[in-house]
Amino acid sequence: MSDAPRVIAPGMVVGILGGGQLGRMLATAAAELGLACHVYCPDPRSPAFAVAAARTIAPYDDPEALAAFAASVDVVTYEFENVPVETAEALAARVPLAPGARSLAVAQDRLFEKELMAGLGIATAAHAEVSRQADIYSALARTGRPAILKTRRLGYDGKGQATVRAGDDPVSAWRVIGEAPAILEALVSFEREVSVILARGRDGEVRAFDVTENVHDAGILDTSTVPARIEPELAAEALAIATRIAEALDHVGILAVEMFLATGHEGRRLLVNEIAPRVHNSGHWTQDACLVSQFEQHIRAICGWPLGDPSRHSDAVMVNLIGDAVADWPALAAEPGARLHLYGKSEARPGRKMGHVNRVRPRPGT
Ligand code: AMP
Repeated sequence: MSDAPRVIAPGMVVGILGGGQLGRMLATAAAELGLACHVYCPDPRSPAFAVAAARTIAPYDDPEALAAFAASVDVVTYEFENVPVETAEALAARVPLAPGARSLAVAQDRLFEKELMAGLGIATAAHAEVSRQADIYSALARTGRPAILKTRRLGYDGKGQATVRAGDDPVSAWRVIGEAPAILEALVSFEREVSVILARGRDGEVRAFDVTENVHDAGILDTSTVPARIEPELAAEALAIATRIAEALDHVGILAVEMFLATGHEGRRLLVNEIAPRVHNSGHWTQDACLVSQFEQHIRAICGWPLGDPSRHSDAVMVNLIGDAVADWPALAAEPGARLHLYGKSEARPGRKMGHVNRVRPRPGT
């Protein structure tokens, strides 16, 4: 779109590509600002549909459905990064898209992500590209063992990954990931994992939430805690790294940057693991511990509104409710200091994110 984007005012319509829990929470936040959401998702059972003003159930490559969707919305965003770039570009030719297609293209390919970091002088785990079976040996020479083979695309929550330890046959790791184009990464020994969730407005203003400390279990986020146990200088460095990435992408909206606080012969340092051009599970605590949540902040940014105040009034621990853990909902609903968020998914399959709980404690003096 060449003309200057207008402010998306209350009463106008935000289009969301993707209908998962992130889309559901974005649509709820948009509704609280008087905006309506039109959710586009191929899956008729999408959790976001229940809270959306309008829905389209169609594949992402359906030109007629996309044209009708574009005609019915004032701005388009996405809630997951595996939306095809061509879909995003086709929409961007008709209606403002935020974040832009470049953020999407980089975030959906682990090699592009690493190349962006290298170009910005931002440290990552040692890695090498693996496009065919034979590459795995030269890649291992670069990373050493243990290492993790990860598909370049479509991996999430630890899926599409295989570890190569001393004595393992690397070819079986290549088979485990389906012989798809991949990168091999050195296994980082880390003290903890942290993430930065920031918003960048259309005017380039950046506002970040406090750095979050994350614990994963089997590749899936388990808990996020604020404040993170890192020194203020490292927290400032984490924010500076994330800001540089957002600026390089000319990103508009929420950007999440996951990092390792690595230990080892090069000392304690931050290594970027991956980025997400969207609201992120490690930012769910903002719903109950900040004046403005990541969901509202994303809507504000993409609609050209002033960014909200991201300051934190409470300490918080977010715990994901995965699979059967959601059966504890009656006890969680009764727990003092806890706020329960459920996604309305009917079937609690193992590994499926069903909801989360934010345990908050007001900060002294706030
Ligand atoms: P990812 O899908 O890349 O976010 O990986 C999911 C989780 O697996 C991360 O949050 C880490 O806990 C772990 N992990 C991924 N890559 C590495 C690595 N190179 N070294 C150590 N742990 C890793």
